[in-house]
Amino acid sequence: MTKLVTDVICPFCGTLCDDLEIEVSDDGKKVTGVYNACAIGAEKFLHSAAADRVTRPRMQQADGSYKEVSYDEAVEYAARVLANAKKPLMYGWSSTSCEAQSKGHEIAELVGAVVDNTATVCHGSTLIALQDVGIPSCTLGEIKNRADRILFWGCNPAHAHPRHMSRYSIFPRGFFTGKGHKGRKMIVVDPRVTDTAKLADVHLQVEQGRDYELLSALRVAIRGNKLPDVVAGIRKERIYEAADLLKSGRFGIIFFGMGVTQSLGKNHNIDEAIMLTKDLNDYTKFSIMAMRGHYNVTGSGEVLGWQYGYPFCVDLSRGFARYNPGETSSNDLLVRGEVDAVFVIGSDPGAHFPISSVRKIAELPSVAVDPHITPTTEISKLHVPVAFVGVEVAGCCYRMDNVPIESRKVVEPPEGMLTDEEFLERVLQRVKELKAEQGAAAAAAKGKVTA
Ligand code: SF4
Repeated sequence: MTKLVTDVICPFCGTLCDDLEIEVSDDGKKVTGVYNACAIGAEKFLHSAAADRVTRPRMQQADGSYKEVSYDEAVEYAARVLANAKKPLMYGWSSTSCEAQSKGHEIAELVGAVVDNTATVCHGSTLIALQDVGIPSCTLGEIKNRADRILFWGCNPAHAHPRHMSRYSIFPRGFFTGKGHKGRKMIVVDPRVTDTAKLADVHLQVEQGRDYELLSALRVAIRGNKLPDVVAGIRKERIYEAADLLKSGRFGIIFFGMGVTQSLGKNHNIDEAIMLTKDLNDYTKFSIMAMRGHYNVTGSGEVLGWQYGYPFCVDLSRGFARYNPGETSSNDLLVRGEVDAVFVIGSDPGAHFPISSVRKIAELPSVAVDPHITPTTEISKLHVPVAFVGVEVAGCCYRMDNVPIESRKVVEPPEGMLTDEEFLERVLQRVKELKAEQGAAAAAAKGKVTA
């Protein structure tokens, strides 16, 4: 007999769908079925039961092969790498719980690390923009219940957040949106004809990298001022039409993704998008929200924010928190050779960083904490597999609208496996011991010199 666990949170993307139903084997050890999730969310749950799953740490050997080691050996290696480094980089954090993030930051403080998360290569520019000009935002529930104008800019939720449109933004019937998608107008701004763009009432096919011009043109059009005949590859009539559509709604939202945060203009694009939202509030109610990718990248920014005042790129190497994206961001540090060890958790820079940075990670003493085998684990000196957060261990996660949601444990992890938090706690204790030893040795050496 199997049993069904209901109201389960999906720990894959920033939508954090909370209506999954997971079928679990009688002994509570194996996921046997996943209901309500999209294909990528379902795969995450099913992978926990994969026969080829790695369940013990692996250490890279001289010939590049990997040898299984115990968790004790893994804790010792990770603690020594961090305690002996002058300036280690502790990167990732976006696919683990807030509790684990907080524990990892304790280690970072002790060893003087730079703590950075995946926003550094996705929505970091958004975080800079909202520090510059603030952000008028709302929750996904408000969008479901109120929004009748939906603008997707530089994002493709049909593929990246597959249930976003059906749960919150386009198709559901809400309290004031009883007609579902029939009562909503959808605008997509994207240089490509994506599967999301194919569903739109209006698709503005902006020229690649010209988002700032189009955002500015929309601000001009909203005020009824004159535009040149063509802006960013789009005829002015289409821009006036889109501006009128946005103004005529009761409640609108701009969702934006990496197509605009990482194209020319970066944080200035988002400054302008936020100012467009502000302008639209002269006519109707409008909000703006980033389409966050990893399921707890928002939580990582929040935890870093509570603890150090900055949401990413936090440099603790001088004993206090510094923040200067471009200087204290992971790729800049790696390319300039400013870090001497790398600790990765809950992310895969091996698949997403430029090759020059990946080569640097491969050269340095490195630890990758990840339940899966990834390009990062395959270049790191030590791979530590851990239990899946949201599947085998519960923990707090933040949805893309900054709502904290407690993810659930649905099955037991494989026998003897540690969770991220447990592994980090053990590394923390060992780092404390090593730092005490280093402090005592330094004091003894100083005493000898003085004598
Ligand atoms: S949309 Fe995202 S959170 Fe929802 S089921 Fe799919 S992957 Fe999971």
